[in-house]
Amino acid sequence: MAEKIDRNENENEYEEFCYICRRPESVAGKLIKIQPNMGICADCMQRTFDSMNIPGLGFGDMMRFPGDMNFPFTQPKVPETNMDNPKEGEDGDEKKKPSEIAGDQEQPNGLHNISGGFPNIQFLNLADLGMPGPQRIKKKKPKAKKVEPVLDIHSIPAPHKIKASLDEYVVGQEQAKKTMSVAVYNHYKRIMSKVEDDGVEIEKSNMLMVGPTGSGKTYLVRTLARLLDVPLAITDATSLTEAGYIGDDIESVVSKLLAAADNDVERAEHGIIFIDEIDKIAKKKNTNQRDVSGESVQQGMLKLLEGAEVEVPIGASSKNAMVPMTTVDTKNILFICGGAFPDLEDIVKERLNKTASIGFVSNLKDQYDEDENILSKVKTEDLRKFGMIPEFIGRLPVICALESLTEDMLVRILTEPKNAIIKQYQKLLALDEVQLKFDKDALYAIAKKAKEEKVGARALRSVLEEYMMDIMYEIPKDDNIGTVVITKDYIENHGTPLIQMRGVEVPKLEDSNS
Ligand code: ADP
Repeated sequence: MAEKIDRNENENEYEEFCYICRRPESVAGKLIKIQPNMGICADCMQRTFDSMNIPGLGFGDMMRFPGDMNFPFTQPKVPETNMDNPKEGEDGDEKKKPSEIAGDQEQPNGLHNISGGFPNIQFLNLADLGMPGPQRIKKKKPKAKKVEPVLDIHSIPAPHKIKASLDEYVVGQEQAKKTMSVAVYNHYKRIMSKVEDDGVEIEKSNMLMVGPTGSGKTYLVRTLARLLDVPLAITDATSLTEAGYIGDDIESVVSKLLAAADNDVERAEHGIIFIDEIDKIAKKKNTNQRDVSGESVQQGMLKLLEGAEVEVPIGASSKNAMVPMTTVDTKNILFICGGAFPDLEDIVKERLNKTASIGFVSNLKDQYDEDENILSKVKTEDLRKFGMIPEFIGRLPVICALESLTEDMLVRILTEPKNAIIKQYQKLLALDEVQLKFDKDALYAIAKKAKEEKVGARALRSVLEEYMMDIMYEIPKDDNIGTVVITKDYIENHGTPLIQMRGVEVPKLEDSNS
């Protein structure tokens, strides 16, 4: 009973079945309704007539009989009309849609009902015999409207357009954004174009990002993947081990990507894999023993970076007998490796100073000591010296360096991006109808404090949180507060924020951020 109610409730969501062959309407074509809840497909109907052996009577004829069905079997043969191609009929009748044929009334649900029934044929309603209800298939729902990606990899936009989209989210890092836009443009152009067999094979443009912690490496890759609407898997090189050791084996990154692509292999094969902390798998210096942790993980990754067919479990991160497997080709996956490479600066400086000490420029020997962005001058030989194996570096042909963030950049990160932290606080207080403003000096004071922590932009939130905590606690206590202005003195711990009551004219602060 309960099932009956349930079945009736969402009747429209289910497909009708042919009562003879059990095929759903989407497969068998429109059903002919012979009872209110019984339909038969055209094929089965024809087969029924064939088996009855009525000479000259076909399904096509049936469809033309008038509604009351009182026709004599001896009736002169009705000229045959091909239902599929009515023009071929001899009677010269104008085209008639099946629904216009007498007796066939199209139902609101699209089914055909021959109102008069069939001569000498009685259909038994199986449902009356208490037969189990047919197995039912839900109608396919129209797919939810897909959100259009900002950039479409199928008609890959020019590098300057990719960079312009990145600019909306990522502050500064001009060189890195430029390099990345070109690399991504070339990568997807190479995949999407049908490569002609002219012997010229464009190589993959996997990337290596070098930059201090918190300078936006992960953020840049995340933003890019979101703009291009490609799946992204982020993994940490330190968790990777050679197959057989405890930890994630190298191929597990591909199954992560497959999961990010909702197990759609084709989508995964156009995705991006970001491997962070790549500097942590550098070869250890001054060791004569075999280095299991670093060098062999680099070796293990070579095939993956270049393009290999990897067997990965579907919907699980580890291989076992119970999990179905699929093959993912990494040939078109864009690999981006990132790392802070802490001592790399010294290696680059040493090389630059060495060249500077030769020849006329020898007096400028120490010119690089104060250079904050020395990493932008990195070369593959420096990376080799750092402990990356040449084969590995060779598979990451694009190297881009991110600058360490200056105070100016930190202030811009606080205020400019679409989801900037300050905008978030302002929105929170606006819900209490309180305006939050920041004195420009205060913003610089916050940036200065964050810079001292040496973790890049990551420190901004924790510094701001420290000062906003009290404000977020105190302000809702008093309904009369209309505006709060954060001042430099408050951030430097020798003052309080300026509080203005509602209805009082707020003196215009010259350089406050509203
Ligand atoms: P890492 O270089 O260590 O991977 P992240 O990309 O994780 O650093 O950066 C940490 C956070 O700092 C990001 O989530 C982002 O909000 C912010 N951030 C860092 N750099 C920038 C930038 N250039 N523009 C905007 N936000 C940034």
